[in-house]
Amino acid sequence: MLRSRTGPDDENVRTVYVPAPPPPESVYDTLRSGETLAQVLDGRGFSPQEIHELIEVVREYKNPRTFRPGVVMQLTGQPGEQPERILLQLNQDSLLQLDSDADGWTSDIATVPIRVDTLLLGGLIETSLWYAKLSGEVERLGEGEFQEYVYDLADVFAWKVDFTRDIRRGDAFRVAIERELRPDGTLRARRFIAIELRNRGRVLSAIPYTRPGGQRHYFDVEGEALRGVFLRYPVPYRITSGYSNRRFHPVLKRYRAHRGIDYGAPHGTGVKATASGTVTRAGTWGTYGRMVEIRHTHGIQTRYAHLSSIVAGIRVGARVEQGQVIGRVGSTGLSTGPHLHYEFIQNGAHRNPSSMNLPSAPALEEQYMDTFLVKRDAALDLLSGVDLPVARSDEVGPAVAD
Ligand SMILES: [Zn+2]
Repeated sequence: MLRSRTGPDDENVRTVYVPAPPPPESVYDTLRSGETLAQVLDGRGFSPQEIHELIEVVREYKNPRTFRPGVVMQLTGQPGEQPERILLQLNQDSLLQLDSDADGWTSDIATVPIRVDTLLLGGLIETSLWYAKLSGEVERLGEGEFQEYVYDLADVFAWKVDFTRDIRRGDAFRVAIERELRPDGTLRARRFIAIELRNRGRVLSAIPYTRPGGQRHYFDVEGEALRGVFLRYPVPYRITSGYSNRRFHPVLKRYRAHRGIDYGAPHGTGVKATASGTVTRAGTWGTYGRMVEIRHTHGIQTRYAHLSSIVAGIRVGARVEQGQVIGRVGSTGLSTGPHLHYEFIQNGAHRNPSSMNLPSAPALEEQYMDTFLVKRDAALDLLSGVDLPVARSDEVGPAVAD
């Protein structure tokens, strides 16, 4: 008699099918204007006690009332059941993760992952820095990103080049930029590694260097500072009314000295302190409207008038650094429209800042030169990966015979 031969394994093993739990699902809620976090949680079926507990956990990280409309909350859990995990955006770079367990809710901060890369760009100027024919890794530029570099570039060379007057068609630049990018492609940070600017036949270079314990500053290839003790201008916009001892005033309808410089900048533009100093006025003052006055060294004061707002913390006695944003352009006081009125006063007398020959910041000290030169050579080597654009002959305007 033949028996079917089955192995011992086959006799005792039974296959049991257990239905797999459905995968957790996520839903997203966006905080609307006038809505609170508690209302969003209420809409997702949390009990009042649980909402209270969650809000108290959130409060350890951020005042729940300061979340702005548009903040996204991700709630994850089994379908049809109460969410077990909540992700809440605290700011652009961090998320608050709340997890439900037997004892209640636990919290943790998750950092948005950052990617670092290097971008090489060239630009051939057509009319201004804003209108340049770009070359290099143009396809990797994000929306509006180039505009940020234009501001940065103008800042770096503000002391060497008057961008409202000295830029010519056919001038060019090339830059190597280190970027920190968020997963959504937005820029978290950006810094120049090296810059070259060809302006009216000369080539200016800028290499950043940070002295131990100091701030990051730009130097030329020889280690000379690019920065002046004073910035050339507090906003990177065209002068709409220069300094004069006699001009027709559009509001007063009479001739009156204009002992300052007006910049035609849009409402809300950040106004920078042109040098480090101490705030001596911050508030409303007659025809100046909302204004800030800063006292610097060498008996110099600067004034920034017609502001729409003054930045928090800018008050009498506050210390400000060169380039720090102190207020926003507006049209307060005696003003016909948004602009910045900037004054430069030395030993109590108004001066024309654009005609003054003000000193540069100190060159790099001897003891830092060796490390600077190593960094410089590496930076210039990187920059050589993109060409400094040259205009074709038909792109160069007619020469001036003089
Ligand atoms: Zn003015």
